[in-house]
Amino acid sequence: MRGMVCVLRQATVVAGLCLALATLGDPVEAVTCRQGPLAASKYCTLPEGLGNFQGYYRCADSVALGKPTNKSELTEIIGRYKRVKGVGVGHRQAYRPLPSWWQQQFCAGDGADAVGIVTTEMTNTLPQIVNPTYAKQSDAVFPIQVNEEARTVRVQSGITQRILLDYLANYTTAKAPYGYVLPAFAWYVDQTVGGAVSTGTHGSTMFWGSLSSQAVRIELALANGTLLVLTPDSNPHLWKAGQLAVGRLGIITEIDFKIVPQRLLTRKVVPQTFDAFLEWTLAAQDRYKEAVAGGSEAAISASLAEVDMTQLFWFVPLNQTILITYNSSDIPRQFVGGKQPATAMGPSVMAQSTTGRRLLQSELPFCISSPYYHYRKMQPKAGIFRNAALKGELSEGVYAQAPSPTLGPNIAITQNPVAFNFLYKAAMSGIFQNGTLTERQAILNENEFINKQTSDTDPYDQYEVSVPLQIAGDCLKKASPPMFPDSIPIEQHRHDDSFCEKHETHEVGDAVIAENLGPGFAVPPLIRFVNGEEAYLANTNGGPRMFFNIEDHLSMVMGIFRQECGARMHWGKAGWPRWAACFDGAKEFPDTWCSFGCAVRELDPTGKFRSMSDVWTWNAADRNGTTVPLDDCCTPDGFKAECTCMHRPPCSA
Ligand SMILES: Cc1cc2nc3c(=O)[nH]c(=O)nc-3n(C[C@H](O)[C@H](O)[C@H](O)COP(=O)(O)OP(=O)(O)OC[C@H]3O[C@@H](n4cnc5c(N)ncnc54)[C@H](O)[C@@H]3O)c2cc1C
Repeated sequence: MRGMVCVLRQATVVAGLCLALATLGDPVEAVTCRQGPLAASKYCTLPEGLGNFQGYYRCADSVALGKPTNKSELTEIIGRYKRVKGVGVGHRQAYRPLPSWWQQQFCAGDGADAVGIVTTEMTNTLPQIVNPTYAKQSDAVFPIQVNEEARTVRVQSGITQRILLDYLANYTTAKAPYGYVLPAFAWYVDQTVGGAVSTGTHGSTMFWGSLSSQAVRIELALANGTLLVLTPDSNPHLWKAGQLAVGRLGIITEIDFKIVPQRLLTRKVVPQTFDAFLEWTLAAQDRYKEAVAGGSEAAISASLAEVDMTQLFWFVPLNQTILITYNSSDIPRQFVGGKQPATAMGPSVMAQSTTGRRLLQSELPFCISSPYYHYRKMQPKAGIFRNAALKGELSEGVYAQAPSPTLGPNIAITQNPVAFNFLYKAAMSGIFQNGTLTERQAILNENEFINKQTSDTDPYDQYEVSVPLQIAGDCLKKASPPMFPDSIPIEQHRHDDSFCEKHETHEVGDAVIAENLGPGFAVPPLIRFVNGEEAYLANTNGGPRMFFNIEDHLSMVMGIFRQECGARMHWGKAGWPRWAACFDGAKEFPDTWCSFGCAVRELDPTGKFRSMSDVWTWNAADRNGTTVPLDDCCTPDGFKAECTCMHRPPCSA
């Protein structure tokens, strides 16, 4: 998650920091971003260029930008280009002048034969993004269609999760007096639903899975220019592939999600030390392991219920965690006696809490915790105006990319992560409150203001890994000592570029690096839990997992998770080229990788949607162990059981 900079404007100290964070001499003239009116950031590249939400990592200029206004235009554009990729609002990539972001997966290619097709510009979608209405609509072309009988909602893929959630919350009826809600939504809700489903975007739930599992119907524009409707029953194999496909199978045009009537939830906020949280996680891990060993479904469910919906914010340099749990058991789910029960917020829990101190930033070498070293390598382009004229329409619905600004460095946030932890925590006291609220309000998620502030303030990375619940506590234990530095490193390294170079090239486990991760966490990691899912590429395919989300400027801890815990990477976040280099799908998804490959062979035989990423490789062997083309091992139901999904050869070979 991202911090709450500038929320408490009244406090002098905060106001000072807010001022320091403001970007002076801002060259941006107008905002066209599609995250919704209040959340729209100033530096997003889409929908006029192919880059991320802070203006970084654009695809090559020669790559065309498709802005179809309807589905037939979209399929025509797909037909006209050799290489194609669907895009939403560009939250996949992240800033870092290191090979850690994932531009390769976002860009269709690097030449004029490639097109990135944006889903937000459809005639039936754009008005609801630019000027959302939350009043119930009966117009058949409205991009959000609620089906109360089926308890589903059909949404056009370019609509953001927030706009969907707010429309649903206002959709009050006799059956749903508080309106409806997605059963489990994300912390960050300003991405498109197409982008969210494509990457397995998730909240915290032990029952509903990620948004990919909350979908019950997906319409996909295919490489051959047709539209394919997938449901769990129509084709279980392609469904498991299409539920979470990272854009590899085609472009999602619309999605039906499950919805549930909103209920009231009681939010409980518990500040505690990291050690207390570690114990909590170890206990959850052991309960689950015991239940699995005992083989009782009821015991397994009970053990999962203990972590259901939990969110955990970890203020690393302060050695404090904030555990958020939700309970509805004491509140009737349905509307009672013709009246809505009152909702209530308790006093701020944070105001009553105490904090610890680990280490001050001034005690650390400059380059370790500061991205400024990186900024010096890569300065933003100055003076480029968003409203620069488009180079023109190349063909119907397809444009050359327009220039756009990039967000420059913000020195204030790099200087004192400890102070920023205090600031964020203070700012978050507004939401860290006990209370009984409707689900949409109760479950913590980033509001537009915070999103906008953080998007426009400081270029940042966001990483997320998941580890099986069976080892969640053990893994946290391994990762925590390096995040809590106990020794003060050598002062002379400060401002020493050669030290910084050394740091960049060192492997995980280097003592100096490992001792200094904690203060890199200017904003708190967010820990969540998700149940097992069936989608071939779901992080939780195979069983429930703990997700660990970090935004630090020194991500070595990713290596610890990857190397020591066998963590899987979030498909929609940064770090792939660095932490999943030479990605071996057969190793990471041993039971499902080649079935996904079979779906790719069936729906995209020419590799139109292969992007520039090198993860999409499959190797198969027949029952005799002879290497064969993947096609030989594919059936309409997926990968043949008699074949073996082979490991990828080493990339250096
Ligand atoms: C600040 C921030 C906070 C986040 N918080 C969370 C969180 O709380 N929980 C979580 O799980 N994830 C989170 N994410 C990850 C985010 O949900 C995903 O990266 C999501 O894909 C972004 O959607 P987008 O519309 O910006 O898509 P883009 O960034 O434009 O695209 C992302 C990927 O999806 C593909 N894609 C997009 N739209 C389509 C489509 N219609 N059809 C086919 N493929 C498509 C693209 O090709 C690309 O590979 C966060 C990301 C950021 C940057």
